[in-house]
Amino acid sequence: MSLALRERLIFEYSRPGRGARGQWPEAPARSALDALPDGLRRQRRPLLPEVSELDALRHYTRLSQLNFSIDTHFYPLGSCTMKYNPRACNAAALMPEFLGRHPLAPVAQGQGFLACMYELQEMLKAVTGMRGVALSPLAGAHGEFAGVAMIRAYHRARDDLERDEIIVPQAAHGTNPATATMCGCVAREVAVGADGDADLEALRAAVGPKTAGIMLTNPSTLGVFERRIEEVARIVHQAGGLLYYDGANLNAILGKVRPGDMGFDVIHMNLHKTFSTPHGGGGPGAGAVGVSARLLPFLPLPIVAREPAAERGAEAPQYRWLGERDLPQSIGRLTSFGGNAGVLLRAYVYMRMLGREGMRRVAEYATLNANYLSARLQQVGFEAAYPQRRASHEFIITLKRAEQDYGVTAMDVAKRLLDLGFHAPTTYFPMLISECLLIEPTETESKQTLDAFVNAMAQILREAREDPEQLHGAPHTLPVRRLDDVRAARELNLVYREPAT
Ligand SMILES: *Cc1c(COP(=O)(O)O)cnc(C)c1O
Repeated sequence: MSLALRERLIFEYSRPGRGARGQWPEAPARSALDALPDGLRRQRRPLLPEVSELDALRHYTRLSQLNFSIDTHFYPLGSCTMKYNPRACNAAALMPEFLGRHPLAPVAQGQGFLACMYELQEMLKAVTGMRGVALSPLAGAHGEFAGVAMIRAYHRARDDLERDEIIVPQAAHGTNPATATMCGCVAREVAVGADGDADLEALRAAVGPKTAGIMLTNPSTLGVFERRIEEVARIVHQAGGLLYYDGANLNAILGKVRPGDMGFDVIHMNLHKTFSTPHGGGGPGAGAVGVSARLLPFLPLPIVAREPAAERGAEAPQYRWLGERDLPQSIGRLTSFGGNAGVLLRAYVYMRMLGREGMRRVAEYATLNANYLSARLQQVGFEAAYPQRRASHEFIITLKRAEQDYGVTAMDVAKRLLDLGFHAPTTYFPMLISECLLIEPTETESKQTLDAFVNAMAQILREAREDPEQLHGAPHTLPVRRLDDVRAARELNLVYREPAT
């Protein structure tokens, strides 16, 4: 990045009276403002930057270029699925007929939108093998909350009131134990075996009359496919618990295997990872949930239903929202309306564009790219955490040896990659593996990009041997250097004060 100077704050460009007001055909009406009582009016003018349209445009464009993004850089952030998201999905979701639709508009005027949502529910059912889907949760963690709330509602409806333990494998995403706790359960950790699969003996010892369920993902966060998943399902079901599938990332299994067939009772899907919409910067998400037959009555509301034309004598099928009357045992509403419409529409268009065949290709290339990258990195001297296992959509390398031999950490490697034009992989997650990098190339990257990444990693390994100081000090070329993460979190200060004049 070639920014020589520190980017200024927009206030620093401000000059009194400057602005872009000339573009308004006429000044906004004042009369409405004049009617406000004195007590409700501010006494001092607000501190707003007064800049020309050109200054504002340049300022924000430059700021956007200070970031790494999927539009500018390879972004192999494990567990986040930073794939290319086709612009066509965006264009369709931004159609004025969708954008202008009011969430409280009469159902008769929103049949097109409702039809898209209904078909999205159906496609997600087909792809996961679940019996019902609700689209309203707004993020992965929100979907998890819905899922565990349904598990609790299921046990409660059977008067099985003692079940408050959720089993979580050691390698789980941090949101899993957090969700269990938020839902009033106790998270109980079970170990993972040396080969990356769940330790079945530990699992057998952990289940019992207090088991509400288990939260796990397959492929696991260790990047490997849990081979004895049916046995895991049997053990938990026999103990009276339910199985929760963390389907944040379905890239490795789309069109190949289905969580419903593996025996899972509930799943959340991060539509903002697997099905278009960039997952980054904490932007809007969609954590749709799917359930097996026994959890159907508890799905969160609203859900879209389709009433066939024949039954009502109408010309076309009619779509409508299901509410509390249709689903009296529902865990309720988790959002004011139906969910993040823009994200849901992008997922809908993305799935329609891919079709069944395209979805299988996503899984094949995601897996191929991960295994290719893993093999190439091992060739140039990196150590895989599970060298005996085939990777799924992602894999882990460990820098344990580099740390012992040269004092170079996973964080040093991550920061140095930024200098070389690559976003860093996920660092220090899962916590089970020391000095680890979790790498997910996704299906949308070319062999050339993957090779360039391998070359950068090989250069970093050379530097670790010959010039470790270079790595400790990285990044050297970015607008900001190594940040004090703890201080940035604990003493965050975003307040701008007008300089004294
Ligand atoms: C991203 C992710 C989540 C959480 O999703 P959010 O949308 O960030 O809440 C949960 N589990 C796994 C495995 C993930 O990768």
